[in-house]
Amino acid sequence: MRTSTHQLATAALASFVAIGLAAIVLASSSAHAGVSVVTTTSDLGAIAMEVGGSDVSVTVLAPADADPHYVDPRPSYLVPLSRADLVIHNGLGLEEGWLPKLLLNARNGKILPGAAGHLDASSCGFTLLEQPHGKLDRAQGDIHGGGNPHYTTDPRVARYIAATVRDTLSSLDPDNSAGYASRYETFAKALETFAVAQRKRFDALPPERRLLVTFHRSWPYLIDWLGLTVIAEVEPKPGVSPSPGHTAKVVKALRKRAVKAVLQERHYPRKTSETVARLGGATLVAVSGQTPSGSTYLDHLKALTDALYSALSK
Ligand SMILES: [Zn+2]
Repeated sequence: MRTSTHQLATAALASFVAIGLAAIVLASSSAHAGVSVVTTTSDLGAIAMEVGGSDVSVTVLAPADADPHYVDPRPSYLVPLSRADLVIHNGLGLEEGWLPKLLLNARNGKILPGAAGHLDASSCGFTLLEQPHGKLDRAQGDIHGGGNPHYTTDPRVARYIAATVRDTLSSLDPDNSAGYASRYETFAKALETFAVAQRKRFDALPPERRLLVTFHRSWPYLIDWLGLTVIAEVEPKPGVSPSPGHTAKVVKALRKRAVKAVLQERHYPRKTSETVARLGGATLVAVSGQTPSGSTYLDHLKALTDALYSALSK
């Protein structure tokens, strides 16, 4: 039997109420919701909240501790999507496996690709890293074939996203454009101050302490910002599980350069990284991959950089 979208949405609403908040509503202090924004990841949600403030309600689909490459497209996600005025997604293939189907089933023309309420944050004007030359670059595995999608690890990039969110919200909701502009200014200043201060802090480390091993290739934007170098990744290619042969090579490389830290997101399995760190005398730094619920974007980056700095400066 074919289930209609309406039935699906009704069932989704029931399960949404029954199991509680599957998607996290970040906040809106106003009784009437203002512009209804849905973001795929919590970094994008936290950035949207900084700019939108009380003029928006923001719902984040993927939990902060989920691997954003592989999110379960729960039917409950259709409820916020069907009511959204604006959807903001990461792009570069990050949500390829789960978002397109949801957008189609949400039956909301306002947020479909090409509509005014559809924002691909990778097109906000910042410089994209690891872009494929010509057609898709399979050398970086199947999941990074369109370029590296983990750009929200850099606050300098967040500024571009915030500016585009300001412009998009102002065009959807012109009455509140002064508020969007003013919150953007405040946020942009905070991002810049933070970015400069952290770079200065990491620059003061001796060069041999600015080396890293990481689990997934999630960090090219962060290392560009902080002036660090990744000498090896525990995954042989993005999305490919570690093999004993590759792990042995990573341990050898880590020991040779006396690398102090192995960095990974908490949502990845830790066993191999723990082994690599232990055998090489390094510290495993396991961090939240995205802004945790209840934190701001800058709180999240501060926790991340503090943990990393502490391991590198030991
Ligand atoms: Zn990835």
